[in-house]
Amino acid sequence: MRVLPIRVLGDPVLRQETEVVGGMTPELRRLVDDMFETMHAAKGIGLAAPQVGRRERLAVIEIEGQRVVLVNPEVVASSGTSKREEGCLSIPDVFADVQRPAVVRVRALDADFRPFEIEAGDLMSACLQHEIDHLHGRLFLDHLSILKRRRALAEWDAIKGDYPDLRRDLSKEDLAAHPSREDESL
Ligand code: ZN
Repeated sequence: MRVLPIRVLGDPVLRQETEVVGGMTPELRRLVDDMFETMHAAKGIGLAAPQVGRRERLAVIEIEGQRVVLVNPEVVASSGTSKREEGCLSIPDVFADVQRPAVVRVRALDADFRPFEIEAGDLMSACLQHEIDHLHGRLFLDHLSILKRRRALAEWDAIKGDYPDLRRDLSKEDLAAHPSREDESL
């Protein structure tokens, strides 16, 4: 398994619509393994294919030992609203409160291309929605008010010089420099 470079804000791949996966291949299975490896190296809990420069509609999540592989996921029902702080492995060290539906039901295919549904609240709900957003070129910043988005972008402006080629190379990055709340980045 390999740790892949993570694309950061400014890379156009993060704003592109993904392509529906037509079937699992050995190459895509390796990609899933590499995405888990990369997410663990970055101390994140979710990672979507565009964050590693790929166009497949595919994401992985791991929260408290519960691993979820999402192929072609879609939200089929949602209810309530809740606000929680989010971060993103593609926008390191920037955090903001995001308001989203509290509970979602998601339909997807698993790593063996078998359909399943997952209903979740709390952190898993936010993570599912955050990753599915990535698969449609949306970032958590898009959910903020203009003022809060401006503040978050100002924070990013102060940091982004650390990523001149718009990628995080986790094998070189000093992970100790990003210990704060990164265990909840998505
Ligand atoms: Zn993210």
